[in-house]
Amino acid sequence: MSRIYNFSAGPAMLPAEVLARAGDEMLDWHGSGMCVMEMSHRGSEFISIAEEAERDLRELLSIPSNYKVLFLQGGATLQFAQVPMNLLRGKGKADYVVTGEWSKKAVKEAKNYCDVAIAASSEDRNFTYAPKKFAVRKDAAYVHYCSNETIGGVEYHSIPEAGEVPLVADASSHFLSRPMEVSKLGLIYAGAQKNAGPAGLTFVIVRDDLVGHAQKGTPTVMDYKLQADAGSMLNTPATYAMYIAGLVFKWLKQQGGLPSMEKKNVEKARLLYDFLDSSSFFRSPVAREDRSRMNVPFTLKDAKLDDEFLKGAAKEGMVQLKGHRSVGGMRASIYNAMPIEGVQCLVQYMKDFEKKHA
Ligand SMILES: *Cc1c(COP(=O)(O)O)cnc(C)c1O
Repeated sequence: MSRIYNFSAGPAMLPAEVLARAGDEMLDWHGSGMCVMEMSHRGSEFISIAEEAERDLRELLSIPSNYKVLFLQGGATLQFAQVPMNLLRGKGKADYVVTGEWSKKAVKEAKNYCDVAIAASSEDRNFTYAPKKFAVRKDAAYVHYCSNETIGGVEYHSIPEAGEVPLVADASSHFLSRPMEVSKLGLIYAGAQKNAGPAGLTFVIVRDDLVGHAQKGTPTVMDYKLQADAGSMLNTPATYAMYIAGLVFKWLKQQGGLPSMEKKNVEKARLLYDFLDSSSFFRSPVAREDRSRMNVPFTLKDAKLDDEFLKGAAKEGMVQLKGHRSVGGMRASIYNAMPIEGVQCLVQYMKDFEKKHA
């Protein structure tokens, strides 16, 4: 068996230990004689899997007891609509911070539901930094921002100030890569497939007082209150994805939890950025203080060499390094499950490539 270094932005690498354990448990989960995929979501076996996953997630992020944890479907993209449907609370307006492709999409969707004002934007410098000062309307229902822009590689390294207005974060691509002060946020959502599990599962962590205000016409499965009351099981949840995410949570706990994961992620990101900064051939477009630890976009001196770079990398067992079609260049996503050896291998390859073409 050989595993490659997969730098995909998502679906992305999962810890080999998690996949191996899922393999071991495939035909017979804990003596049940069933695969988790075959279990009733109402049966005691699956209920225990779901409850343990929630417990472990709460422990990892130190989620306060006045927050609901929901395991939903529809991806982070559905949250672009589900957030306004649930959080407007009759106010009719919400403020958005625009820092790249994902926050632009969130704005576009929110405009179907309310009056949207832009509280801050980094468009003036082509979305290469994270504005920290938000101009928030006092009567806005919430302020939405993307805490890690997956495509542009821009990350908020602390939670911005939004005053009294609840802050909503799309944390999809750095969820569980570092501790997060949940109590500073009204709602956090994240698709699982970037850093926490398989596609098909979305985490929503929401403060109690923001739940129970869904606007008229909200589909039942999209109402946070109804889902919370039903333990995220109004209908059949993404059972297998929840099980794998639960194994990822256990793996994270074994790694020493999020503080220890953060240390490893800092080390991996530093290795790559230090090299980028020392190179006259490769370049990172993102402002130093806002560089993402998870998604590292970079360009080559001459874009005509992009193809050769990608082909050579694939030969060495490194794939999915092509940048997003909207920005071009390269992007290395180095989530929790990417071992430091993968980053070392990439940097060595880049050094050799630079020497060859300098
Ligand atoms: C991937 C991503 C999304 C969209 O996720 P889907 O699961 O495809 O809907 C939204 N926001 C961010 C920050 C992402 O990285």
